[in-house]
Amino acid sequence: MKDTQIAKLIAAEAKRQREGLELIPSENYVSKEVREAMSSVLTNKYSEGYPGKRYYGGQVNTDKIEQLAIDRAKSLFKSDHANVQPHSGAPANEAVYHAWLEPGDTIMGMELSHGGHLTHGRPGTISAKLFNFVRYGIKDIETGEIDYDQMRAVALKTKPKIILAGYSSYPRELDYAKFAAIGNEVGAMLMADMAHIAGLIAGGVLANPFDSGFHVMTTTTHKTLRGPRGAMILSRGSVSNPLRPVEKTLENLPTLIDRTVFPGLQGGPHMHIIAAKAVALFEAAQPEYKDYCKQVLSNAQALARGLIQRGFKLITNGTDNHMMVADIQSSFGFDGSVAELTLDRIGLTLNKNVIPDDPLPPYKPSGIRLGTPAVTTRGLKEEHMDQIAKWISLALKRRNSETDLDKLGKEVKQLATQFPLP
Ligand SMILES: *Cc1c(COP(=O)(O)O)cnc(C)c1O
Repeated sequence: MKDTQIAKLIAAEAKRQREGLELIPSENYVSKEVREAMSSVLTNKYSEGYPGKRYYGGQVNTDKIEQLAIDRAKSLFKSDHANVQPHSGAPANEAVYHAWLEPGDTIMGMELSHGGHLTHGRPGTISAKLFNFVRYGIKDIETGEIDYDQMRAVALKTKPKIILAGYSSYPRELDYAKFAAIGNEVGAMLMADMAHIAGLIAGGVLANPFDSGFHVMTTTTHKTLRGPRGAMILSRGSVSNPLRPVEKTLENLPTLIDRTVFPGLQGGPHMHIIAAKAVALFEAAQPEYKDYCKQVLSNAQALARGLIQRGFKLITNGTDNHMMVADIQSSFGFDGSVAELTLDRIGLTLNKNVIPDDPLPPYKPSGIRLGTPAVTTRGLKEEHMDQIAKWISLALKRRNSETDLDKLGKEVKQLATQFPLP
């Protein structure tokens, strides 16, 4: 690369990724094939529209590529339709809101500090300015059970047009059938934001919301699904010409969504990324991917056990999925940002995180969030999770000793370099 400044920084980032262990639950390592598709000549092409209905010429190959991505997504997630064009998770959610709602309409989502995502109505976001968000939350912090009675009471009172299931920092499974019962009672559209767990649904280790009657599912493609940075919108209903207006009915959701993504919200799709999504979906349909998903969950169990044995307080006392949230403030007397910095220092990357009803502010919250998708892709197993829990505990206890942190850092690097990046 002639641009030596960027070349050096990319090389340094590759080294950082190689020598450390990635515990941020929303991150992963893509395959060489996914990266090849992303860096292909497809980035040169404009393809506004949808397969067979484009505004530019030269689509012989791109139409087939996008159709493959669509077909693979539909078969993997059991949906009637897939839109593979959203540039990322946030615009995918935005597109669904705008496909179904008018400004001022109500959306019911998870309490943000209980696990909901920024795009579920965090004050200051565009969706929070346009729509009215109401909340459900956890009833019992010890078990993580959602308060479905409260959800129903609020839904009956506020008549949300969308009930949104999904989270970024909630370690348990949701009862989608209960969401659906409440949604059907109040006539809400049922939307699942599966950004974190889509891969685990595809791999068959977590429930698919469509099996409980959900209408729409959004997901990023770069988290557990292990594809390029991007997103998809899956829906139930019948598909018609995406370039013609249709009536706002549940049956028409696929078309309403297509029209909102393009031309409503985006211009030309990123064809190199869509090809990489197709490759990731192909990989997720292979038998090895199921094994990967099972290992992600057993590694999460092992990491949770290792932390609990060392005195950590985990929110809901464990996990059913790939992630966990630990309350650092109550166990150690310092906040999650201090823990994040200390662990970064020894090559363990994770993020500070709010805990339910956190008394501390979001930039200095009480907790940290950890997950196993990335380390599992590297090939780490249960015994390594116990070792990681031990390092975390030691580093936080001896965080003022430079010598101890140096020593732990060397141990982390030694293990990490035995497990090359894909
Ligand atoms: C990550 C995430 C998103 C947003 O994805 P981006 O690609 O970062 O825009 C949306 N919803 C949930 C639940 C997420 O975890």
